[in-house]
Amino acid sequence: MGAKLNRLAERVWVFPFEEERDRPNLGYIRGDRWSLAVDAGHSADHTAAFYRALEAACLPLPSLTVLTHWHWDHTFGMHAVHGLCLANARTNGHLLAFREKLAREGRACALALHETVRREYAGGRPVIVTPADMVFSGELLLDAGNCPVRVFQAEAPHTDDSTLIHAPGVLFLGDARGDVFSTGERDPALCRRLAEAVGAVDADICLEGHWIPQTKRETVEYLLADEG
Ligand SMILES: [Zn+2]
Repeated sequence: MGAKLNRLAERVWVFPFEEERDRPNLGYIRGDRWSLAVDAGHSADHTAAFYRALEAACLPLPSLTVLTHWHWDHTFGMHAVHGLCLANARTNGHLLAFREKLAREGRACALALHETVRREYAGGRPVIVTPADMVFSGELLLDAGNCPVRVFQAEAPHTDDSTLIHAPGVLFLGDARGDVFSTGERDPALCRRLAEAVGAVDADICLEGHWIPQTKRETVEYLLADEG
């Protein structure tokens, strides 16, 4: 038995995060005409586990997968997604750069990122990085069928390439509110900018990449906590 989906809102589900292999939450938004996923997964195995949970819940596989940022645990499953992938131009630039590094240095450079990557890719499984099929800058409005989805870039403390996804009732943040991966630091000015962006969105639930759902208020308070 694999992990199951949790329903967050009428049209929104999440395939929950796992700490052992640093697998992030994968989101799912179902419109009347098509559906989309938020983030591709850490590997083909992770993406496949997500799709098994969708099939078990009788939900169609996504036509589109939107990436929250370029980090490996959110994107290295891109080659295994059903349908197309959408990323902002910065995210796609980071992916293209990492793909070149991988071609030059081999999979060791991916395994060197973190022990959780070595766990995800144990047994010599290949690391495959692919760029997005569609690239945007700024903001995109999608309609999956009586289901408006706003995809927009936001300044954030975690990386320079954050995309937030606002589905009915839920705001997907990726890792945006977190520390910088390499330094563990958080820039208070960027936290405030993100808090303002989150505060302006009409959604009750905020979902971070590696944590349980929180209210919008909890998320804003977390971002402003360092200001005292
Ligand atoms: Zn990240």
